[in-house]
Amino acid sequence: MAAKEGQAQLRQSGGICYQLTRRRVKNLNLRVRPDGTVAVSIPLRASVRQADAFVLARRDWILEAVQRQQRRAARPLPDRALALEHFTALSRQVFPAFAGVLGGRMPVIKVRAMTSRWGVCNPVRGQITFALALYNEPAAAQEYVVVHEFCHFLVPNHSPAFWAQVERLLPDWKARRALLREE
Ligand SMILES: [Zn+2]
Repeated sequence: MAAKEGQAQLRQSGGICYQLTRRRVKNLNLRVRPDGTVAVSIPLRASVRQADAFVLARRDWILEAVQRQQRRAARPLPDRALALEHFTALSRQVFPAFAGVLGGRMPVIKVRAMTSRWGVCNPVRGQITFALALYNEPAAAQEYVVVHEFCHFLVPNHSPAFWAQVERLLPDWKARRALLREE
């Protein structure tokens, strides 16, 4: 059965269980999420067989990435208060570059146990929430997430304009992001 656009379908290929979604994209995309689940998005006209073959061809790489994410997920989460203090301090360092768009008000910083994202920005509430697990990641990657979330105060989506802002502040953001996730 064909999946409708945006609707996820669970499939299996080469012993790998993955979530397939059809999107208005040009290429097949593969992502191993922080929680170790595998997500594949394919163009509207691509077939599920193509998706299966795509996954099969990358089987070794996927298994390695899943293992890496599982090891990461097995690490104990930091103390909440400690993490909050840490991410508040990091955010204070980034804040001056965004003071203008934020009307001089430092955003509310929160921490939460999240499995599928490293951070969430709510521009309307002026609030950023960081995943507790981010605390265990390399400092360069943490800085990237903080800057990424702050950039959502300028551009709420992930359009090219958004990435241009990230690049302006962190020219090496791609290398930093690579420390966090495998795409
Ligand atoms: Zn984002």
